[in-house]
Amino acid sequence: MEALKLGERKEGKLDLTPEMADVCYTCTTCSSGCPISGVVPGWDARKAIRSIAMGLEQEVVDSKFPWVCTLCGRCQYACPQGVQLQKTFRGLRSLRERDKVPGPLHKGTIMNYERGNNLGIPKFDFLFLLAELGVELMEEDEEQPCPGFYVPVDKENANIIVTINSKEPFGEPEDMAFWWKIFYAAKEDWTVSSVNWEGVNWGLFTGDDENMKIQVERVLENARRLKAKTILYPE
Ligand code: SF4
Ligand code: SF4
Repeated sequence: MEALKLGERKEGKLDLTPEMADVCYTCTTCSSGCPISGVVPGWDARKAIRSIAMGLEQEVVDSKFPWVCTLCGRCQYACPQGVQLQKTFRGLRSLRERDKVPGPLHKGTIMNYERGNNLGIPKFDFLFLLAELGVELMEEDEEQPCPGFYVPVDKENANIIVTINSKEPFGEPEDMAFWWKIFYAAKEDWTVSSVNWEGVNWGLFTGDDENMKIQVERVLENARRLKAKTILYPE
């Protein structure tokens, strides 16, 4: 193994200065309380921070660690030295080349940008499903029938506008009905937008700040257009 020459430390893109190697005194508080310690062989929160501080940023970016980290923030909360671990670990995701983002996350982010939801569900199919499920809930739920129920799409001046995880209309539509039953029982005044209704921000998860902001702006735009008072993110 090649010896690390600290005097020749590579400049990193993250906001961690070489002095961080002194600030962090390797106490292990971060990694000992981390729910994913040991999940990625050879990596933990302390090692990641110290690697970055010593100029091995790219090695951490290329590892699986930033993607297995849940970004729960426990390490950052517990660190006695105030090291911004959670912020740093999300920053590592931003530095991964987009075509090397794991799984379908980046494709879903682009799909959301182009079609308004992570899975590219067409507007007609979405609205048809909402109408069909609404009728089922009104007529066919024998245990908890909801007479008069319907899904209030694009209703103006509602108290709540709800975002939706696209995996629900795609594969688990009954999960939406759990919320609807609560709204029905509470006599809540709610609505859902017919466009840009995605409630899972994969731009946030993947460190894609530009697409994260676009999705947030779209959700806000829906709320403003329909004059809804409250945005509900069930995710
Ligand atoms: S808890 Fe903070 S000071 Fe301790 S090892 Fe982790 S980053 Fe360093
Ligand atoms: S933010 Fe990541 S590294 Fe920190 S405790 Fe949570 S899972 Fe572990």
